[in-house]
Amino acid sequence: MITFLPLGGANDIGASCYYLDIDGTGIILDCGTHPRKTGLAMLPQFDLIADKSIDAVLVTHAHQDHIEGLPYLVQHHPYVRIVTTPQTRAIAELTLHNSVRILREQMKNETTIRAYSHEEIDLLIQSVEWRSYNEVFNISGYRQMGGDPVHSSFHDAGHILGSAGILLEHNGKSVFYTGDVNMNTQTIFPSAKLPEQHVDVLILESTHGATDMSQLPSRETEQLRLAKRANQILERGGSILIPVFALGKMQELLTMLWKLMEKGTLARTDIYTGGIGRKISSVYDKNRYVVPYNDTEVLLSDIPQNDLYEIEQLDDLLRRPCIVLASSGMLVENTMSYKLAQRWLSNTKAAIFTVGYMDPQTPGFRIRNAQKGDLIQLTDLAEPQNVRCDIDQFRFSAHSDREGLLRIIQQLHPSTVILVHGEEQSVDWMGHAILQRHPTIKVHAAEVGKQIALFE
Ligand SMILES: [Zn+2]
Repeated sequence: MITFLPLGGANDIGASCYYLDIDGTGIILDCGTHPRKTGLAMLPQFDLIADKSIDAVLVTHAHQDHIEGLPYLVQHHPYVRIVTTPQTRAIAELTLHNSVRILREQMKNETTIRAYSHEEIDLLIQSVEWRSYNEVFNISGYRQMGGDPVHSSFHDAGHILGSAGILLEHNGKSVFYTGDVNMNTQTIFPSAKLPEQHVDVLILESTHGATDMSQLPSRETEQLRLAKRANQILERGGSILIPVFALGKMQELLTMLWKLMEKGTLARTDIYTGGIGRKISSVYDKNRYVVPYNDTEVLLSDIPQNDLYEIEQLDDLLRRPCIVLASSGMLVENTMSYKLAQRWLSNTKAAIFTVGYMDPQTPGFRIRNAQKGDLIQLTDLAEPQNVRCDIDQFRFSAHSDREGLLRIIQQLHPSTVILVHGEEQSVDWMGHAILQRHPTIKVHAAEVGKQIALFE
């Protein structure tokens, strides 16, 4: 019997965590935290599996909403087997240590859970096993029924460095979980490489289910539009702030900007990066011959960059034209991009470019939807500010468009699809589109706490 139970990240984006019972072997797929929530509310609902056996946790990639719940799970299950790709393990070592300080600050008055320590992260990382793409490894459950272990493997998801989909096979039945997946090429990474076989059950992310990308400009057109706008701002003496996730988007945008500058499409100017994003870039550089890259010649560390964290006065960034890549991507309060945005908003020559997904309840969402002349409050408690800078929206997603998601179904021919990691509208559109094209497929919209029986 196989059952699927979402613990988080089912009908929204954040704290991705799913429990699979495969004939008695308990496997957790991803273990994230919700980027916008704090305390117990940011964690997956671990209490739902309090009485279940947990044999392994497989992690698709190192984004917060897929991995940062791990230290909390391990507090209760210190001996659980954790497996991921070597790249995800290397990045997680940086990002989890980086979160220690942030969480301590965030949880000063928190009583429901405690922040973890650097020592706990060291122990955790030491215990993480790594497997390369397409390498098959076995998971044997303590309460496993029948002799065969679960055969597992990671498959390049084309989302960020080390990102993977997970294939699980047992007694002739197969389950594939996409994780965050990109079926289109980005600047650094080529598209996902799916397993070349039929799967019975597909657990599919649906981030962009609600967006009709066929109406939107291509990546190339979007790059040219960005370069053109950037040139206008730089020419008038303005600085450009691009809020990015330190993992993935920072490296992608840095490479893209550099390539545009090398081609002469974008005016050469100072680029500022810094913090954890820079350390992650060095992991990218080390892996360029290990996993598929579009262009192994580009070294992120060779791209001229100034260190954002060495600037004494952040206001100085507005005195001379430059481009600043700062995290967090959604301008969460008290982060570098948030502090910079407060300054940028009051500068008439400057511009903020948004380039990715914004949770509707973040300052980033408010900025993206504001225009010059508006009065904006970055948070409910913040002082209202006049928007004096330009705000431009661009799309460089690391996720599949919905046509890409439908292509996954065509390639894998599942008999059952479970939709996860999407807001209601996205899941609705995907569900209808799948049933229209493949009326025999059984489609489930995942809900936290609602168990789905896949095979009796
Ligand atoms: Zn991701």
